[in-house]
Amino acid sequence: MKKRRKEILFGLAVVLLCGLLVLFLGTRGKQRQGTGAKPRTVIEYTEAYEIFALYPHFGVAAADEELEAYVAAQCDAFRSDEHAGSGRSELHMEYRLYEPCLGVVSVEMTVFTRVAGVEATTSAAFCYAMPEGERLGLHNLFAADRAEQLLVWCGGEEMAFLLRPDRLLLWRGGKLVKEFAKSEYEDDLLYPPKTQGHSGGTQAFVSVLPATCTVEEEKPMIALTFDDGPNPKYTVQILETLGRYGAAATFFEIGSLVEAYPEVSRQIVAQGCEIGNHSYSHRQLTSLSAAEIEEQTRKTQQAIKNAVGYEPTLTRPTYGDINNTVKNCIDMPLILWSIDTLDWKSKDAQAVAEHILSNVKEGDIILMHDVYPSTVEAVELVVGELQQRGFQLVTVSTLLEEALDAGKQQVFRHK
Ligand SMILES: [Zn+2]
Repeated sequence: MKKRRKEILFGLAVVLLCGLLVLFLGTRGKQRQGTGAKPRTVIEYTEAYEIFALYPHFGVAAADEELEAYVAAQCDAFRSDEHAGSGRSELHMEYRLYEPCLGVVSVEMTVFTRVAGVEATTSAAFCYAMPEGERLGLHNLFAADRAEQLLVWCGGEEMAFLLRPDRLLLWRGGKLVKEFAKSEYEDDLLYPPKTQGHSGGTQAFVSVLPATCTVEEEKPMIALTFDDGPNPKYTVQILETLGRYGAAATFFEIGSLVEAYPEVSRQIVAQGCEIGNHSYSHRQLTSLSAAEIEEQTRKTQQAIKNAVGYEPTLTRPTYGDINNTVKNCIDMPLILWSIDTLDWKSKDAQAVAEHILSNVKEGDIILMHDVYPSTVEAVELVVGELQQRGFQLVTVSTLLEEALDAGKQQVFRHK
């Protein structure tokens, strides 16, 4: 069972990470460049590196926004690499388009990097139903029974998935090698099938890496953090303010709320902010058994992965309460704070803003909650002023980057 799962996971990972996803409906997709897509570019030269990226623009918002976010994330990640020694670094990106059947376009993005003499090539695939630009993935292909066959080319090796409502067949090298019942793999689907009766509408699944905001190493950093969301009203308003100032923040989210408002979580990530785990139902973890703590953590990791495509790497324990069981059960850094705004207590924007502005110093992690209108207002009051004072507002992962890499501590900052 484990082994089968691994094979499935391998197959799915191939599809998602390095494969080219092409719908195959009777005729093999022909490579074309004539979809009405126009190439766009990112060109940037500095002393240390060069970026040359080509990507398609369809004039279809859903597809274009996702591709642009992907390109921006790749460029940002590259810019933030260490470009010392061994000549100039390079990022080169190009694409190929496939139209395997009417109304479907597959985009294969290939990214080549050379950083400090080390070369790497990665690729990613995006598949859209046109003209709406709806993202096609395992989730909606399956639900709609839209296609019988998927063909994947990976490094010259041809793999094929045949997805049927009740089973999945896997070929390699033209031979049927495995057959799985749905019950064997549905838990492993990286994109869950759509369930009926869930919050309405078809929403294109956006699986992009978080855009990283430009960070200046020398400039003092602080991290705003917001607990207990996502909230469809206040989180969105806070994001609007942060976006206006080009500021990042970290949102420690509750798994059950992420399940209810996945689009808010996606917006957080799309904006370059970070999501952390804040338990599934906001239980006080120190009062739970090891199995219960693990369940709270695991279900939230899964909910966030379902919403944004990846699992968070940080946890904020509810109420900041930690004991040895919590430490042993949560295999992530536990992030507390150094400034408690008491926003939950005062519900007073002025008081929260004054508390921050009269206490803030480099390296602070500031605790707030994206569930009060007063906090929304307080954010509006402080962000510009903090930047005026020379602080960069970054995610917790950026603020603690070195310490997290070194893995020295498990618990960061104190109440
Ligand atoms: Zn909380």
